[in-house]
Amino acid sequence: MPRTAAAHPPASPSPPSSLPRAADPDRRRTSASVVLRSVLEHGPVARSTIARLTGLSPASVTDYCARFARLGLIREAAAPRQSKGVGRPHVPVDLDDSRFVMGSVHVAVPYTTVALLDLRGRVVAERRLRHTGTVEPARVLARAADELAALLAGAPGCRALSAGVAVGGWVDRDSGTVVAHPLLGWRDVPVRDVVGAHTGLPVHVDGHARALVNAERLFGRARGSGSVLHLFVGNVVDAAFATHDEVHHGPRSQAGAIAHLPVPGGTEACACGRTGCLQAELSERTLCRRAREAGVTDGVNPMHVVAAAADGDLAAVRLLVDRARRVGRAVGLLLDVLNPETVVVTEIGVLHRADCLAALRDEVGAERAAAVVPTSFGDSVLAVAGGAVALDVLYRDPLGASPERN
Ligand SMILES: [Zn+2]
Repeated sequence: MPRTAAAHPPASPSPPSSLPRAADPDRRRTSASVVLRSVLEHGPVARSTIARLTGLSPASVTDYCARFARLGLIREAAAPRQSKGVGRPHVPVDLDDSRFVMGSVHVAVPYTTVALLDLRGRVVAERRLRHTGTVEPARVLARAADELAALLAGAPGCRALSAGVAVGGWVDRDSGTVVAHPLLGWRDVPVRDVVGAHTGLPVHVDGHARALVNAERLFGRARGSGSVLHLFVGNVVDAAFATHDEVHHGPRSQAGAIAHLPVPGGTEACACGRTGCLQAELSERTLCRRAREAGVTDGVNPMHVVAAAADGDLAAVRLLVDRARRVGRAVGLLLDVLNPETVVVTEIGVLHRADCLAALRDEVGAERAAAVVPTSFGDSVLAVAGGAVALDVLYRDPLGASPERN
């Protein structure tokens, strides 16, 4: 099966990035998380090295590694020739990425992306389901669950540990509910319960900007960064912010709702009744409408605008660069407020064109431009988003989130 490699920065011999240390209140869960994250970031890595990197005792590291091995999360890598016996501290261990996958569902306005991710956050299989007619939640979610089952059936030997669902708009992680997604017309949709009932899997639900912050922390360019801002610019425009491994949710997970931030000089009418809201200005719908007006495309697929630009259509190039500049202005505002070490932007122009990234960085200003990077996951970003919700739960509490915990 084809695997799309996510961007994996080279492992550095530093301690796992900004991880909570073992002295925190929930010590057992934290220590387990620190050890598994160490294996993810540095594997294959000797248990003695993990002990040195994490500050945990060698005996404790060996114990956690034995439990993870029993659960099938890690395995011993090729041993040095002289080693004998079990639990040898200098024999390297690595993630076992052959046994478990995470189901991944991302619901966008025009389509749903369904995928399987391995424990390294890599896409093992992916399918896109275009929405036709109604986007009634029960129908969209049942179709996604059926497609997940089909992908799993096509991946013999892989067992799904859990599933993650990422959606734009206002998503309450604790209750697993999409509270409000005006563009889809969804309100108080119990996504966790619906997908759980269809799949029989534990299901975790979060907003897609937050999901992708976690993906960047665990598997992408923000690994090791003390604070990360993620700006998602699709049809939905929203943001998420994490410091020291903790993504800010706020009461009922309302943080990051920036759709109606006013853009100076904006001209687009917004559904909220005002003019020039960030989401109305930057949405892919607006990009496509402007592209139709400019004769670039006659459709509603923003990738056609990117393709036209790649074919040398200057009007398409102008539209994309102009959009990237506006995104840059929004990033500048958020940088002023939050001052993160790293800003990750998911936007198709910035993802596909150097001139768009340059325009965005130009707008942010030379001093801070280097902090701004495109998503680490390329065209697989939506396939990664849902599974990242479930992988974040696993890496935070590997023993609690694993199947044989009882
Ligand atoms: Zn508005």
